[in-house]
Amino acid sequence: MKALTLNAEWAPKPEYQMSDRERETRKIRNGFMVWKNPSLDLGEVPDPTPEPDEVILEIKAVGICGSDMHMYEAADDGYMLYPGYVTAPNILGHEFAGKVVEVGSKVTELQVGDLVAVEEIQWCGVCTACRRGFVNHCQNMEELGFTTPGAMAQYTPVRAKYCWKLDEIAEQFGEEEALVMGAMVEPTGVSYQGMFNRLHNWQPGNNVVIFGAGPIGLAAEALAIAAGAGKVIMFDPSASRRRVADDMGASASLSPIDIDLDEAILELTLGRGVDYVIECAGVADKTIEPLNRCLAVNASIIDIGMGGKRPTLPTVTYKQQGVQLAGSLGHSGSGTFQNVIRLMAAGRIDMRKMVSARMPLDDALSAFKRLESREDAKIILQPN
Ligand SMILES: [Zn+2]
Ligand SMILES: [Zn+2]
Repeated sequence: MKALTLNAEWAPKPEYQMSDRERETRKIRNGFMVWKNPSLDLGEVPDPTPEPDEVILEIKAVGICGSDMHMYEAADDGYMLYPGYVTAPNILGHEFAGKVVEVGSKVTELQVGDLVAVEEIQWCGVCTACRRGFVNHCQNMEELGFTTPGAMAQYTPVRAKYCWKLDEIAEQFGEEEALVMGAMVEPTGVSYQGMFNRLHNWQPGNNVVIFGAGPIGLAAEALAIAAGAGKVIMFDPSASRRRVADDMGASASLSPIDIDLDEAILELTLGRGVDYVIECAGVADKTIEPLNRCLAVNASIIDIGMGGKRPTLPTVTYKQQGVQLAGSLGHSGSGTFQNVIRLMAAGRIDMRKMVSARMPLDDALSAFKRLESREDAKIILQPN
């Protein structure tokens, strides 16, 4: 079958303290400390066969994510940009939907022909974090498309326990559209996890500020609107991304460059300030750090975006205003996939609005090239 493989050279930085497990498995916790000169290769690889607890999916739609870009892009020193858990060589692709074409001997909940979306977080279910319900922080986590083979391929093996059926969407929108929408359940789930599963204090009527109008920020925008937000104010330097944010219903969308964020947010909220801040840009030092006078009493800040410098935070303000700040990672558990699928099926969120192109897998390399400018929000590859 055809597949898009990430290659990179093994070149650990001298200061990186690598664990024995990392050395053995070549699965690296901090990718940018080890992997050099990343490159992509579109070529033939063997067809997968299912383990007893797996199904084989025929991949119908797979999104290119900011993380995929960060694995493929290198910094000036040649090291991959991606700071997280990653191995190479490996097939990319973790935002996807497909059709079950083969079922392992122990799979009971899925059948050939089922349409499914799949969790990227491959939680174990037996470690202490998992047993406490915090599956996004599994101590034995693997990540599909990062440390195990991903879905930028014609077929992918996945454990049945990570699959969620898309029949509720297919009933409303038909099979083909359900699969494109299904590919966006994973990124939308990342925003859902941050907004509704971390602080458990979302209230309809919240004034919301979202940093970053990439896929995670746009998903947060759609969810905020569906969940009854007051104003939804988007910040992104890209004019084309701000246009998508406007099309999806933002109250206002601004470039954050060279403006006083406190001032802008106070003005747009008629002096009331912001109740819910969602960081989806990965530059907390430029987004969360400057927020001070614009934080309403009992404001919440959710930090989702990865990267950037370590911020210096106005903790005195946080005390005076009763502000809470939570980090958020992942999309598994808490019924998130189920609920995102239902919101899509009900037509309350339509993430297709952020898809700027649907392309065959054969065009994957040019799609990655095109995304380097960060003008598109989401490109969907359709391998079959
Ligand atoms: Zn992603
Ligand atoms: Zn676990």
